[in-house]
Amino acid sequence: MVPEQSLSKFESTSLKMSTITGKTNLVGLLGQPVNHSLSPIMHNAAYKEMGLDWCYVAMPCDSKDLERVTKALRFLNFKGLNITIPHKQSVLKACNKLTEIANEIQAVNTLIPEKNNQWIGANTDVQGFLTPLKDHNLKNKNVVVIGCGGSARAVVMGLSSLDIKKLTIIGRNESTLNIFVKSTINLLSRRGISIESINYKKLNVSPYIEEADLIINTTPIGMNNINTKQENVPLGHEIWACLSNKTILYDLIYTPKPTKWLEIGHQKNCFTIDGLDMLVEQGAFSIRLWSGFHDVPNEIMKSSAEKHLMV
Ligand code: NAP
Repeated sequence: MVPEQSLSKFESTSLKMSTITGKTNLVGLLGQPVNHSLSPIMHNAAYKEMGLDWCYVAMPCDSKDLERVTKALRFLNFKGLNITIPHKQSVLKACNKLTEIANEIQAVNTLIPEKNNQWIGANTDVQGFLTPLKDHNLKNKNVVVIGCGGSARAVVMGLSSLDIKKLTIIGRNESTLNIFVKSTINLLSRRGISIESINYKKLNVSPYIEEADLIINTTPIGMNNINTKQENVPLGHEIWACLSNKTILYDLIYTPKPTKWLEIGHQKNCFTIDGLDMLVEQGAFSIRLWSGFHDVPNEIMKSSAEKHLMV
């Protein structure tokens, strides 16, 4: 016998969901953790609007299981997968082919089904990152990127298409900085962009901050539920005293909204961009790759994600 209280809870939840049948196509997200992801909210809102009988689920997956899980989901006929922290580079092993962009940056956030139960690896973070910058002219500008992990690779690939003059990568770890520069230097030099890497634990980065036209935070510092009170602003609080009001601040993080770092930007009258548009646009580009439809309801994806952030 199901207790009355839990029955009414179950009924109210099931009423909010669209009906999943034996014909429903499955798509989803693999990462660790995924329980705070907004992707199921915004994807399912998009499918409803598009009239697609599709359902998007977030699935936690340990690194040791990634290859087996991606293989199994292909056999289960999933129509597509998104890949997030910490698997964007390790998932390359599970791909039979890579798109040009994914191959260039050696990072994958989207798997597309291929014949013979294989996957094609793609990266839609690059287009997602560029969307909120489309009205800004960054030709010959100085850009600073903080952090040199998976998303920084997509950011640098995007920046390389904007004719910027100079890129400074600021990180905390000499060896990851060196690997990052080695893997991006060819791409940047082909476009005439110079690159410098700085370890902020060893060098004063104020001169780079002062002269930057655009600064992008690609670290998780400032993200809800991962940071301590002492570390909620990239590079620490003091450094931002020298920030110019002409500098654009772009934080890849979208929760909290705004982050402490973007609050500092507001106080200095800087133009600020948070990570929500990038999240929505990378998701919209994934839907285009999976469904073949060009028209994806980005605004509905964004408003459903915003509503959820406000709860
Ligand atoms: P990642 O591959 O783990 O890279 C994180 C980078 O931040 C690494 O360079 C790491 O340095 C550095 N870092 C981490 N903690 C640090 C600390 N306490 N102090 C200094 N540096 C630190 O992660 P990712 O995939 O690039 O994601 C990074 C952030 O971007 C996450 O918050 C993620 O949610 C966000 N993101 C948003 C979107 C979007 O659509 N809006 C898309 C992708 C990512 P080391 O190399 O020294 O470890």
